Amino acid sequence: MGTRLRAYRATLERRQAFQQRTLPCAGRARMVRSRRMPLDLDVIPATAANYASRSPQDILSLAFSEYSPEIGISFSGAEDVVLIDIAARLGKPYRVFTLDTGRLHPETYQFLEKVRSHYGVTIEAVFPQPEAVQDLVRKKGLFSFYQDGHKECCGIRKVEPLVRALGPLRAWVTGQRKDQSPSTRADIPVVQLDRTFSTAARPLVKFNPLSFWTSQQVWAYIRDNDVPYNALHDRGFISIGCEPCTRATNPGQHERAGRWWWEEETKKECGLHVASTR
Ligand code: SF4
Repeated sequence: MGTRLRAYRATLERRQAFQQRTLPCAGRARMVRSRRMPLDLDVIPATAANYASRSPQDILSLAFSEYSPEIGISFSGAEDVVLIDIAARLGKPYRVFTLDTGRLHPETYQFLEKVRSHYGVTIEAVFPQPEAVQDLVRKKGLFSFYQDGHKECCGIRKVEPLVRALGPLRAWVTGQRKDQSPSTRADIPVVQLDRTFSTAARPLVKFNPLSFWTSQQVWAYIRDNDVPYNALHDRGFISIGCEPCTRATNPGQHERAGRWWWEEETKKECGLHVASTR
């Protein structure tokens, strides 16, 4: 056997010995091949736990690395514009949509426009189905929610349009925080399978990067980074939704006290986040 052939064989034997030490059985090889990625559906709860103490920037970065461009930020309030500000710095494509219920304050429309021009971002306004609105107004008038609760009107003006907005997406991002509502949002994870809007054929993942932030942290970010905000905040409004269902709060009142104030605390969700805690 020539010298070069002996050297080649020795190299081959060393390599085989190394592979046997590091991959001692077929099971180990299978495990390496099938290692779970952080956003595989069955490891999302573990990822949520791992990212619970990470920054919103890290969480959004993870979301975009997995789902851009099929990911959308749901935009309406102060938290959402913080997310847009962070997203704009990540340099990856994403969508922004807003649910235009037709009942928003003029200040909210001005705010949407300000955000659109400030970030040069397209904000896709999604409107309710006109026939459904007409039908509701014809049967019950314009303020039926004061008598029989907000669920029916929110279903038509918010939930059905949201289903359409989420249709082309694999993931969406919300500005929900745990401390916004102790009775409905206390257990929101930073990432979760959206059990309300997923379908068997199309699972949908929901990110809540500000879940662990307080209102003070949101406003510190807005001030420090010159982020645009809704002018109503300067007039005592904290959580802002539709005009007939939102009012300013007094000092010391919880921020959700200004929303659907005629209803019980545990019913103060519009249907967009009913399964947020699972
Ligand atoms: Fe209707 Fe009020 Fe819900 Fe807006 S918040 S969709 S006006 S019930």
